[in-house]
Amino acid sequence: MSDPQVDRRMSVDKGQPTFQVIVLGPTGGPREDNITGLLIRSASTSWTKGSVVAVDAGTMLSGIIRTLEPHMTVSEDGKASVTSGPFAGLQLPHSTAKANAAYIFREIIAAVLITHPHLDHLAGLAINTPIVEASNGPKTVAALPSVIAAMKNHMFNDVIWPNLSDEDGGAGLITYQRLVEGGNPHFGRGELRGYVRACENLLTKCLSVSHGRCKQQYHPETGRHHRVGSGVFTAESMMVPPSFSVDHSDAGRLYSPTRARLSSASGSSGKETAWATVESSAFFIRDGPTGHEIIVFGDIEPDSVSLEPRNRRVWEIAARKVAAGTLRAIFIECSFNDSVDDNSLYGHLCPRHLVAELRVLAERVIAVQEASSPRSRGRSSKRKRHDSDSGSPRSARTTLPQLSGRNPNHTNEHKPNNEHEVNNNANLNAIVEEEEEDNNQASPTPPPLAGLAVYIIHIKDTLCDGPHPSEQILQELRAHSEAMGLGCQFYVPKQGEGIWI
Ligand SMILES: [Zn+2]
Ligand SMILES: [Zn+2]
Repeated sequence: MSDPQVDRRMSVDKGQPTFQVIVLGPTGGPREDNITGLLIRSASTSWTKGSVVAVDAGTMLSGIIRTLEPHMTVSEDGKASVTSGPFAGLQLPHSTAKANAAYIFREIIAAVLITHPHLDHLAGLAINTPIVEASNGPKTVAALPSVIAAMKNHMFNDVIWPNLSDEDGGAGLITYQRLVEGGNPHFGRGELRGYVRACENLLTKCLSVSHGRCKQQYHPETGRHHRVGSGVFTAESMMVPPSFSVDHSDAGRLYSPTRARLSSASGSSGKETAWATVESSAFFIRDGPTGHEIIVFGDIEPDSVSLEPRNRRVWEIAARKVAAGTLRAIFIECSFNDSVDDNSLYGHLCPRHLVAELRVLAERVIAVQEASSPRSRGRSSKRKRHDSDSGSPRSARTTLPQLSGRNPNHTNEHKPNNEHEVNNNANLNAIVEEEEEDNNQASPTPPPLAGLAVYIIHIKDTLCDGPHPSEQILQELRAHSEAMGLGCQFYVPKQGEGIWI
C-alpha cells in the first residue's frame, strides 16, 4: 500500500462493514514509535464517549497524533475538523492534533485490553496514562490475571513507574479488570456465553495462548511471578506428575496450576532446568448488533514447538464461527520470515508456522461443515468408501483422519518444512477436489478459509536499506497458503491505516 494513511474498506463480504480497526502500531519493534497497538470500534456506533476499545498499547498517543494530523483542517475561526482518514466524522473539540489525541485517549477509548505484559505492548499505556483526568474517571485496563499481576508488580510499582492504578494506594488513573480465561461463564447465554463488555456495542472473550518459555511462573495465590523452582509452589507438590523433571539444585519441588506449563530441558551435565511458558492472549471481539467477530492475537508461538500447546483450542472455537460466516478477520503476528529456525523463534511465528496453524483452523472448519450439512455427511461416508479403496489414485484423502496426529502442531520435533507442506497440500487439495467432484461441477466449493482476512502484525523491522521485511513475509505466506488451498487473504497494515471489516 503506497499511502500509509489510506482508509481502506474491506470487501471480505457483501454488505456493510461491521468493525473499524485503526492501526496505531503494526510492528514488534525495534522502533518505539510504531509498536503494537490497535483501536477497534463497532461500525454501528458514532464517535461517542467510550465507543472504542484499544487492544495492546505499545504505541497509543503518538500513533493517534500521527494518524489524525494529516487529515485535520482548521478553519479561520480556529475550529478543527477531520473529514477523511480513519477518524473521519469525529467531532474535534480542540484545534491541534495533540490536544485532540488527548481527548480521544481520555474520552473516546473506553478500555485497554492487554494481551501480555511485554513492553512493546504496554509502553504507551504507561507513558500516556498521566494525562487521564478526574473528570474522565479511571481508564479500565483488562487482561488475564497473570498479565495484570505483571503490570502491577513490575511496571506500576512506584519503582519502574508510579503506581497509577486504584489498588494499593495508587493514583487511581487506571483500574484493573481481571478477565476470566476462556470467558466468564456467569455472563451471557448460547453464543454470547462468556463475553464481557469491551466498549459500546463490542464484547470480548479472552483465551490464553503460549508465547515462548521463561523461568518465571505466575502463582494465583500470591498474585506474583516466582522462579519456577521456588518454594512457593511446594504446597501442591503432590500434584507434580512423576514424569516432570525437577531442578535438583532446588530443595522445593515444582508445581504448576496448569501442569503442562512446566517442562524440562536436559543440560549436557545431566542437570535439568525447569521452564514455564509465557502467557499471552487471544481476544475474540464480538459486535453486538451483528454477531460478527474478529480475533486479535497477542504474541504467540506455534503449537508444534510449545511446551504448552494452546492454539488448537482457539482454532476449535474459531472454526465454528468461520463455518457460520461470522468470523470476519484475525489479527495475528508473524514476526520473522521463514529463514528463522525453530530454535530462534523466541515465542513467535514465521510464515511456515502461521500457515501450519491456519491449516489446523481450515481442517476444523471442514469438520464443522461436514458435521452440520446433511449433504456433507453424505460426502463423509463417500470419503470412507474411498478410504478403503487403497488402490485409488485419490488415496491421499485416506490420510485426512490422521492429520491431527501427524500435524506439526502435535509434535515437538522440527521437521523440514517441505515435508509438512507436501502432506498438507495433498490433504487439503484432496478435500477440495473431492468436494468439487461431489458437486458434479455445479458450483465449485470455496476453500475452507475463503472470506477470512488475515492481518499480519508484529513484523520486526530490520532497519536495513532495501525492501521492508513485510514483503518477503507476505510472499511466503501467500505461497504456502495457495499451495495448501486455504483461501484466506493476507494483508500487512501500516501505521495510521483504518481498516473496515
Ligand atoms: Zn511483542
Ligand atoms: Zn511478547
